[in-house]
Amino acid sequence: MAQSGLDPKDWDAFRAKAHEMLDAAVDQMAGAADHPWQPLSEDPAKLYAIRDEASSGTFDPTSLVRRLREEVLPHHGGNIHPRFWGWVQGSGLASDFLAAMASVAVNANLGGRNHGANEMERIVIDWARSRMGLPETASGVFVTGTSQATVLAFQAARLRVQKNLRKEGQKGQALTAYAAEGVHNATKKALELLGVGSDHLRSVPLRSGQMDFAALRDMIRQDRAAGALPFLLVGTAGSVDLGLFDNLDALADAAQAENLWLHVDGAFGAWTRIADNPYRSLTNGIERADSIALDFHKWFYVSYDCGLCLMRNEEEHRAAFAARPYYLEGAESGLAGGEPWFCDYGIDLSRGNRAIKVWAALEMFGEEAIGKAITGNCQLAALMGQIVEEHPEMSLAHPVVSNICAFTADKGLPSEEQSELNARIATALQESGEAVFSTTKVGGVTVLRAAIANHRTQEADIHEAMKAVAREARRG
Ligand SMILES: *Cc1c(COP(=O)(O)O)cnc(C)c1O
Repeated sequence: MAQSGLDPKDWDAFRAKAHEMLDAAVDQMAGAADHPWQPLSEDPAKLYAIRDEASSGTFDPTSLVRRLREEVLPHHGGNIHPRFWGWVQGSGLASDFLAAMASVAVNANLGGRNHGANEMERIVIDWARSRMGLPETASGVFVTGTSQATVLAFQAARLRVQKNLRKEGQKGQALTAYAAEGVHNATKKALELLGVGSDHLRSVPLRSGQMDFAALRDMIRQDRAAGALPFLLVGTAGSVDLGLFDNLDALADAAQAENLWLHVDGAFGAWTRIADNPYRSLTNGIERADSIALDFHKWFYVSYDCGLCLMRNEEEHRAAFAARPYYLEGAESGLAGGEPWFCDYGIDLSRGNRAIKVWAALEMFGEEAIGKAITGNCQLAALMGQIVEEHPEMSLAHPVVSNICAFTADKGLPSEEQSELNARIATALQESGEAVFSTTKVGGVTVLRAAIANHRTQEADIHEAMKAVAREARRG
């Protein structure tokens, strides 16, 4: 036994406590419908006070397990609940429990070297690559989420136009990027972070819900005339507000004609690739992207965090990140073998195993079932849309395209009062535990918004929630 004592003294006693914890955790997911979000009723400073004397000396997990059950499990964000449709949040899968246990036991560091977890990540990346239709020569890396994947992709895009960027820093002509109105803030943030600057992100207007290419061409021409270097076109597969999709084929044509890197933000919408039509066809053309950012923790339902950055050209991917100082030298064999290393594909050196969550979901449920759940979510959003349209007072903010339904509860009111009513309904239903809608602004009006990335939602949930919305709207 090591002197630190930082292992349980009695593994069997620990095992019994671990079983108790697992039971409580599984009960919570199995009974997800009984656990809506609730505001924290206690002072968090007291609730989560660090009491490191509790088991000092004995290293007994009893007090830890009690506090996890009583203080951690009850106070959650509610996104495993079947009527949670706020923002775009995933619902979590039972396979995550099993993947997490294996991950903890192995405690793999996937920065590199020669071990099984890296091989698994490569296989899962290759699976995702093929589903997106990228060529076999493409590469990828698991990351926290689409926000980080976007930074990686844009860095590679910059390298394409400035070969010595890593050494020299950005210099010369100002770089400009283009995205349709409604692009997620992750694009702006990545450009800020990389020193391109958000002033150099052009917001291309929409025409009937999709990028106006005549306007794009004008903007590019003006920027070139002013001495700037257009380098990046960002397409959206599933906009965060309304679930709209750019015409990715047309974007790929434009990127080719203008010599731009095409990046697709497919945070949730990329997974329409494994859904049924008409939803699958929303992502036609995604296979022509230079890079794709997507999440598994949203519309692939696995637990947080789990995102992926895919790049069409592995050489360009490595050119942006590969670096091996002497202490990371690889070897022909032994643990320092196992090329390529993921630290050469992104920012992180030390990395946990995120791919195992996807691998476990595919092993336990299979791609077809996940695809069906995605199609089902779109059908439920369409059902919600239909209820809105059939209701005399309600009105859609935009026709339902994928899994997002945005609407106002009372179209008869002046805009300002509509905004107040919709915001009030969202809060009231969150607090009553009946349903979680979030809000967004469409045409200056705050509207209710359901983004269904939830495999637990059933038709009855939609009907019940919409009854609750109508009831709150009548209350005024
Ligand atoms: C959620 C989201 C992002 C950001 O992704 P994270 O995984 O939260 O970092 C980017 N784009 C879209 C369209 C999103 O929905």
